[in-house]
Amino acid sequence: MSILIYAESAEGKFKKTAFELASYAKKVAGQTGSTVTAVAVNAADASQLGKYGVDKVLNVKNNKLNSFNAKAYADVVKQAAQKEGAKIVLLSSTTDSLYLAPLVAVGLEAGYASNVVALPESVSPFRVKRNAFSNKAFNVTEINTDVKVLAIAKNSFGLIEAAAAATEEEFAPSLNDNDFTIKVESTEKVTGKVTIADAEIVVSGGRGLKGPENWGLIEDLATALGAATACSKPVSDLGWRPHSEHVGQTGKPVASNLYIAVGISGAIQHIAGINSSKVKVVINTDPDAPFFKVADYGVVGDAFEVVPKLTEKIKEF
Ligand code: FAD
Repeated sequence: MSILIYAESAEGKFKKTAFELASYAKKVAGQTGSTVTAVAVNAADASQLGKYGVDKVLNVKNNKLNSFNAKAYADVVKQAAQKEGAKIVLLSSTTDSLYLAPLVAVGLEAGYASNVVALPESVSPFRVKRNAFSNKAFNVTEINTDVKVLAIAKNSFGLIEAAAAATEEEFAPSLNDNDFTIKVESTEKVTGKVTIADAEIVVSGGRGLKGPENWGLIEDLATALGAATACSKPVSDLGWRPHSEHVGQTGKPVASNLYIAVGISGAIQHIAGINSSKVKVVINTDPDAPFFKVADYGVVGDAFEVVPKLTEKIKEF
């Protein structure tokens, strides 16, 4: 039996989630006696996946796939799964992969589970643990279809290095005009910054920062930590920060190892999107701010005093 992963890349380089997925797949392969195949699109160094347990990489080289296109990419993953006779198809929980996964499941007439946070509890019957209700609860889902598609939650599974090298094979799925009915006209690129999706650490600012002119505070701390910057919804609604930084229930989800919230009250809609971060730190002048109830560490203090001192201390390391 074969397990297929979709190894996501950007500009030829694999995202960290691709290695997480490979590590997860290797463990499931152990549970099910399977091999692990990855399908990648225009990856520069596909063999890297071998380090995390992938046996074979189907590398699709096609200039028409340079920008993400859900329909075409779903067809690529579907055809790779069919070629390999894969019974389990794994994708990550990035924005692109969450778009793809249901399309792949429909194409393969497969059962689909998103937000998977752990290795299968059992493989026969096939049961997986998932996050539910914005990470406030878990459920166990049983999938009874022959082929199963899973989207694995980011940062829910660590990287596991394996000794072997992956073999690389060129793969040319048959794509036609129908696959390209959705076309990306332009993409806005954020350069030189860690993106929220890939970040291990996120420093996030709220209305307590008073105005966009004070964001240097957040950026300096983020730079010192090698972190991404984020913000609450009102901050992006007010135009202090771009919408791409808005996190929460209606914004981007964050599953970082460390989430630092500065001047954010901790409204339920904000917490819903950041709750799966491992360690949450809050800096707020109001000791009764709701964020303190969910935080692992908290500083009751003025951001304008606390943050520069924290940044200086971090720079000393
Ligand atoms: P505020 O609530 O104004 O809080 C500012 C905080 O800063 C306060 O706790 C204050 O004590 C503190 N503060 C003030 N001065 C300082 C200082 N000098 N130093 C340190 N702390 C200071 N919000 C989101 O963030 N994401 C979402 O996805 C989202 N989705 C929503 C969806 C719906 C349907 C609705 C109704 C609301 C949604 N909201 C969302 C809005 C949410 O309810 C809150 O209004 C919002 O999160 C509050 O943002 P804030 O904490 O930045 O601002």
